[in-house]
Amino acid sequence: MNIGVLLTRAARRSGDKAAIVHGDQTWTYDAFDRRANQMANALRDLGVKPGDHVALLMFNGAEMLEAMFAAFKLGAAAVPINFRLHPNEYAYIIDHSESAVVFCSPQFSGPLAEVTDRMSRVRHVISVGEVDGDRLDYEATLATGAPAFDDVDVAPDDVAWLFYTSGTTGRPKGAMLTHRNLLAMTMSFYADMCRDFGWNEIVLHVAPLSHGSGLYALPNIGRAATHVIPSSRSFDARAVLEAIERYGVTNLFAAPTMIKRLVECPAIDECDLSTLKCLDYGGAPILLEDLNTAMRKLGPCLVQLYGQGESPMTITYLSHEDHVLEGTEAQLRRLTSAGTARTDVEVAIFDADDRPLPVGETGEIVTRSDLVMKGYWRDPEATATTLRHGWLHTGDVGYFDEQGYLFLMDRSKDMIISGGENIYPREIEEVLIQHPAVREVAVIGVPDPEWGEAIMAVVAADGEVGADALIALCRAQIASYKKPKYIEFVDELPKNNYGKIVKRDLRERYGKKA
Ligand code: AMP
Repeated sequence: MNIGVLLTRAARRSGDKAAIVHGDQTWTYDAFDRRANQMANALRDLGVKPGDHVALLMFNGAEMLEAMFAAFKLGAAAVPINFRLHPNEYAYIIDHSESAVVFCSPQFSGPLAEVTDRMSRVRHVISVGEVDGDRLDYEATLATGAPAFDDVDVAPDDVAWLFYTSGTTGRPKGAMLTHRNLLAMTMSFYADMCRDFGWNEIVLHVAPLSHGSGLYALPNIGRAATHVIPSSRSFDARAVLEAIERYGVTNLFAAPTMIKRLVECPAIDECDLSTLKCLDYGGAPILLEDLNTAMRKLGPCLVQLYGQGESPMTITYLSHEDHVLEGTEAQLRRLTSAGTARTDVEVAIFDADDRPLPVGETGEIVTRSDLVMKGYWRDPEATATTLRHGWLHTGDVGYFDEQGYLFLMDRSKDMIISGGENIYPREIEEVLIQHPAVREVAVIGVPDPEWGEAIMAVVAADGEVGADALIALCRAQIASYKKPKYIEFVDELPKNNYGKIVKRDLRERYGKKA
């Protein structure tokens, strides 16, 4: 099934319902679908064919979702690009993806013009709200298209979304997500993610629609939910809390760093958040201390998801029921896990020779399901390394407990080997964050002539705290060889455009410590 059909059907069933609320404008499902159809017709008239790639370099807004669905309906693949990237980075993605058309917000018109020579395949740039030189105006282009469109019949393995990874390890790679992948993701969401998910959902988009929030939009469109898109482009915790109250938001997706900012915002005690049934968080680890605060402040709405672009949003999840403030030792321990396998997903732990490991043993997390990408666009080598023996190799390290809960240690490259011992930074971070003055912490390995690697903790603190106190905290809770040899204090940890801490930057900065 063409994933664009989600919108076609939602409009047929609930045409009068508010589909998108952005600033002071509202689009009904009829309008959303009609405009996506018009754009699909316009793209076809511009020569875009099924199988072509259409880049979306846009701020969160109605046009982003319209253009994305226009591409789906046409059988072309959408290439959503994070608007926070540097011009060199988006020029690379547009060129590498061989996109035929680029949709952009007006602010990108100028920067795009400067890198045009690096984007040889681009035939048209369609800019929202501004016509400049040879740019096409979004509204004028849309107006040329007829309002009806028969969604193109696609094969399940045709690519719908070329998902460029966040590139915390080198150049971003384009994970080819097919119509089958996105449909399986949608069905899996309905099966596991939100309690009582029905036809009256109101979703708030606080993360970029080019990634987590855009994927998250699909199951919501399939149930004709109202999508509230804040006008502000940066994350403002107070504005988000007020929007939840104002619109009666029922579900949203947020990165762990956003959850932390929400629960630390004084407005959390002033706003009525009772409509919020489901706050899905994931994409990076959350430390137990932060999760406990979030549970106390937000109540029973939290659900954790573990996934990656290569298996979008969906590998394991920590359900509503698993989020407990009181319980048995085993239940409390599971709060540091990424939960259990999603209903239609297989997950296993492999050793370095791709042999399955038993319960309790640590190795690489692998997964197999209808969600696993087709491969990386124009990168057969990376595809062959990642998709081996029918399994997606996630590059994450972890183990299962007896009940099937997955404990995620770290990305394999983040593991520290000191004196022959494998040390997982997460374990040390969990201890250090318990200190009341520590706001954020990242643990890395730095070269050490004696041990191979030594442990360094990089700490952002709010109050008075010395290295001695932090070392003492570690001594009290974990093996002595895991305590940091160095502690560096910083104002802020480096984060990428998705709010993830970039340990690579820390390693570059402190790599010569010894
Ligand atoms: P991306 O493809 O940019 O979404 O990044 C995916 C990576 O983020 C995964 O391979 C994990 O390393 C990390 N990640 C995603 N979800 C979680 C989670 N719930 N807990 C810990 N790490 C996560």
